Amino acid sequence: MAYQLPEMLHPTWIEIDLKQFKKNVISIKNRLKKTKFCLPVKANAYGHGLYTMSKTAQDLGVDYLAVSFLSEGQFLREKGIKIPILVLGAIHEMQIENLIKFDLEFTISSLFKAQIVASYCEKLKKKCSIHIEIDTGMHRTGIRPSTLPSLLNFIQTKSCFILKGIYSHFATADLQDDKFTLKQIEDFQKVVSAVNDNSIIFHLANSAGICYFPSSFLQMARPGLLAYGYYPNKKVDIDVSPCFSLKSKVSYFKAVFPGQGISYGHTYITKKMTRVVTVPIGYGDGYPRILSNKGSVLIRNQQYPIIGNICMDQFMVDISLNESFVGDEIVLIGKQGNLEIKVEEIAELCSTIPYEILCSFNERIPRIYI
Ligand SMILES: *Cc1c(COP(=O)(O)O)cnc(C)c1O
Repeated sequence: MAYQLPEMLHPTWIEIDLKQFKKNVISIKNRLKKTKFCLPVKANAYGHGLYTMSKTAQDLGVDYLAVSFLSEGQFLREKGIKIPILVLGAIHEMQIENLIKFDLEFTISSLFKAQIVASYCEKLKKKCSIHIEIDTGMHRTGIRPSTLPSLLNFIQTKSCFILKGIYSHFATADLQDDKFTLKQIEDFQKVVSAVNDNSIIFHLANSAGICYFPSSFLQMARPGLLAYGYYPNKKVDIDVSPCFSLKSKVSYFKAVFPGQGISYGHTYITKKMTRVVTVPIGYGDGYPRILSNKGSVLIRNQQYPIIGNICMDQFMVDISLNESFVGDEIVLIGKQGNLEIKVEEIAELCSTIPYEILCSFNERIPRIYI
């Protein structure tokens, strides 16, 4: 972004440990064996930075990248990413020309869309590489298995379509109860058998599929969360660790008298003489305001509570009677000394899932790769 300073001039940053990310990718590759690896990099690579994570994955021999939107795929092509990129989200007519121009593989899940795409291909005299999504129970996008034959018929009559893949998506694979997931696998297997074409890449597994459903691997898998180092549910013997930390620096220090309100609304009142430091990040960066009076940070190898409401660009922390100086490093997510604040804990405090926390940090925070 135009206003972004060189990384080290901003007092708050996201640190991505690429060595750890590489280890995660290798662990998953070892588990997948012959199954191709498609890395989802949608939503700024789950907050890790779209381009650098994609380039790193490409260099590691990941087979495919998956994004949700044309904009993400086009950006990667303009930056020189060469490996196949699959756009998972439903496409819109005004995007078709660019999807083809930027050599993006995209998803078609209805005869209606297939007809529109075919007419564009004829007009542009171009071919396009597509995947068909089957709805086996997510009920988001995707064609019913029973309607697939008519769509396949149409696609086969048009020479412009290169059918690269057929896929589906799990709705509940991260839950304890495996019944519905096993049904989805079974229904997708029926599609695989009926289509019976081994030039097509059939793919189904997300992170939870890879962790808990080995029968879902097929020709390709799409693990996002797991590649970034998090298990969808209980830990399994695929060795991954987070590579994402959120850090900042103390920007102000003061002592506050007893009985004083802190920050907007005075939702926290000091009980005693309190040493308070100010942290230069707020909800305007995507740090959840719901952590006001709930969250904590690490400073000088100790954990301290956030006091008062989180502001747009800063918040306050009670360091009790301990010492801290302007410029001290603060860890908001990640490790410091023997302590760690996990994304999972923050998600819990915010009544959400780790995915949402990772994606929430916006472009005002620079990403630094180590
Ligand atoms: C986001 C997404 C994935 C990756 O899911 P994880 O739970 O992060 O592994 C895979 N497939 C589709 C269709 C998705 O939308």
